[in-house]
Amino acid sequence: MRVAFLGLGIMGRPMASNLVKAGHQVSVWNRTSGKDVEGARTAPSPADAARDAEVIWLCLADTKAVEIVLFGPQGVHESLTAGQIIVDSSTISPTATRKFAERVGANGVQYVDAPVTGSKVAAEGGTLIFIVGGEQTVIDRLKPLFAATGKKIFRMGETGKGESAKLAMNLQIALIYEGFAEALTLATKLGVDAETLMPLIEASMVRSGVVDYKAPFILKRDFSANFPLRLMRKDIGLALEAAREARVKLPALETVEEIYDMAIEDGHQDLDYAATITLLEKWAGVEVKGDAA
Ligand code: NAP
Repeated sequence: MRVAFLGLGIMGRPMASNLVKAGHQVSVWNRTSGKDVEGARTAPSPADAARDAEVIWLCLADTKAVEIVLFGPQGVHESLTAGQIIVDSSTISPTATRKFAERVGANGVQYVDAPVTGSKVAAEGGTLIFIVGGEQTVIDRLKPLFAATGKKIFRMGETGKGESAKLAMNLQIALIYEGFAEALTLATKLGVDAETLMPLIEASMVRSGVVDYKAPFILKRDFSANFPLRLMRKDIGLALEAAREARVKLPALETVEEIYDMAIEDGHQDLDYAATITLLEKWAGVEVKGDAA
């Protein structure tokens, strides 16, 4: 298929590369120049990339970035034609998603929100999980593209529901990780080290994918970004905004939001969100270590 891929960050660049490898005809655009994808045409603007594409796929930082790339100067809207499909894999506001879909829908353009779960490693390996909102017939047309970049598609309902479900997923990741980080910090302070505690966690109902994934990084003290703290902070904000709109109270997430803000004040925004443990350690006066450290 002819695909315009807009946004070549941690996630977008390997996704675009996997589309090329699967034989699709890809044009790419990124705000900051110098990020190219081998085998893809580098376009000078979103409008240029989108011209003649069957599918326009976005993977951008936040809601504002999606709005600018779609509707700003030289944005996608300047070259949109009826029959094209916009797919958005950015994690953004569900409410804004529905508004964007309505705007382009007036011109006969279909809109599918397809945020992903799975980090940098899954983007590189083509094993992402897509959490999708949109019409089933449109999603069916996109299946070859999802197959080239991911391993599973879960349809949550109409456009916007993919983003809603994604926020519910990241709410859980943020809270599970923070619980794990607090447990490791307390155990260390009480004299039980992480290497001793981990086999117990693994054997019990506390075990989780989040713990499995993050424990080795904590034990190695490797906080380089797989999922940057600033992006998880953005998703926590989006979840709280959606909760306010729906009149839902999320007290645990509100507390975790404060921890992220303090981590950002400490300059950790570009580290992985796992780095929130360093605040707990600082307050407790301990450092969680493994033998590897
Ligand atoms: P990233 O590495 O920070 O890349 C962000 C992309 O957005 C870059 O291409 C950036 O362009 C572009 N961008 C930012 N602001 C823009 C603006 N105002 N106008 C135009 N382009 C703009 O982020 P990422 O990790 O690839 O994440 C992309 C999306 O996927 C985010 O919504 C994130 O929450 C979500 N996500 C990420 C992960 C993960 O593990 N990383 C996992 C699941 C979902 P420049 O290069 O010019 O800055």
